[in-house]
Amino acid sequence: MKITLICSVAALLLSAKASAQMMVDPTKPLTNKAEETEIFPPQAAEPKVVTPGKSFDTAPSDAIILFDGKSLDEWVSTRDKGPAKWKLENGVMTVNKPSGDIQTKRNFTNYQLHIEFQIPANITGSGQSRGNSGIFLAATNGKAGGYEIQVLDGYNNENKTYVNGMVGSIYKENIPLANPARKAGEWNVYDIVWTAPTFNADGTVKTKARVTAFLNGVLVQNNFEVEGETNYIGKHEYVKHGPAPIRLQAHGDRSEPISYRNIWLREL
Ligand code: MG
Repeated sequence: MKITLICSVAALLLSAKASAQMMVDPTKPLTNKAEETEIFPPQAAEPKVVTPGKSFDTAPSDAIILFDGKSLDEWVSTRDKGPAKWKLENGVMTVNKPSGDIQTKRNFTNYQLHIEFQIPANITGSGQSRGNSGIFLAATNGKAGGYEIQVLDGYNNENKTYVNGMVGSIYKENIPLANPARKAGEWNVYDIVWTAPTFNADGTVKTKARVTAFLNGVLVQNNFEVEGETNYIGKHEYVKHGPAPIRLQAHGDRSEPISYRNIWLREL
């Protein structure tokens, strides 16, 4: 009993000492002007510790793994919310057009997304019919179904399409800042930061969505403020929504299906 009491007091003293080291004493005179602008806890919280991956494409410790090449368990068919029926082979999932789009089981608000895609080496077709897919950063129930960042073959210079519909674009809304696409058969890497829109109670937009995106390490969207959901025809508009899945597009053209791998996300 006595030993327990001594241990408890010692622990208390140690923790008091530790927190005293973290605190800024407001009665203590500052020793120089520089200290006036230094922030210590508890004025601001310590950033959480995240163990980074071995390389920039490896998931850090706080990531949600959406696809690690082993299963499609984090995905469902958009059509019937049943199991995702895209092809899974050699650690890669490939669009299966007849079964349609797939989407995450989970809903997200703000996040950092890593996702890799490959246009098949034997791709045929041109323009929007050459390796078309897309990442809907928030898949909604609105008429347009969400906000699409385009996936398309962008390497072949003969593959001309409208610049606000090429790979790296916010589809039919914002032209990418550069075209760093790799050629068909090689893997492309998107790193995307999505800030979801917020809405007032009456459904009007309070703050618009924003997108920052790197394609193969090159900035293609720089904190772009989105005008609304990706309508194929007509103005892009917002329809009030909350947390939403991420959807991958099985585009209905005749080109060879494209593949995805190594998908992970950090909630922000
Ligand atoms: Mg598309």
